[in-house]
Amino acid sequence: MLRKVYQLLQSPITKVLGLSVFFTSTVSSLFGTGFYLLNKSFWPAFFIATALQLLFFVLYNTVRQTSDYETISRIETDRLNAEAKYKVKLGCSYCKIANVVPIVLNTENRYKCESCNQINGVKLQFISTQITTPITTPIPEAISSIIAAHSPSMQPSSDSPQSPS
Ligand SMILES: [Zn+2]
Repeated sequence: MLRKVYQLLQSPITKVLGLSVFFTSTVSSLFGTGFYLLNKSFWPAFFIATALQLLFFVLYNTVRQTSDYETISRIETDRLNAEAKYKVKLGCSYCKIANVVPIVLNTENRYKCESCNQINGVKLQFISTQITTPITTPIPEAISSIIAAHSPSMQPSSDSPQSPS
């Protein structure tokens, strides 16, 4: 039991909490003493000072968390922007020397050739491709589907363009 209490007292959270309570109550006591010396009562000043300090801490933490959140968002945006850049090897349209060019998808891309110093534009072109049969398909199934696709005799109700009627 004593050991557990000792461990609890040794933990960093307890130390920070203890120090915070100590400093907060010290400041509040100073306020109380000040009011007491002015022939006013100690405790109301003490409690008001404590409440004001707690309010200040809450506001301070809220502002700090907001700025932390903004920093994290900015880092995330920078990371996404960095990932949006692709590096492509392109031959110069003037001298045909290959250059490694960073490409950003959502802007017009230009680069200066390292060899002849001419400014090149970059034209992006996308082509679609057929998807090949995935290797995870069981082999007998894949073979039978290939046979079925390539032999018109096994497709009695064929409406493919290969069989003119
Ligand atoms: Zn060039």
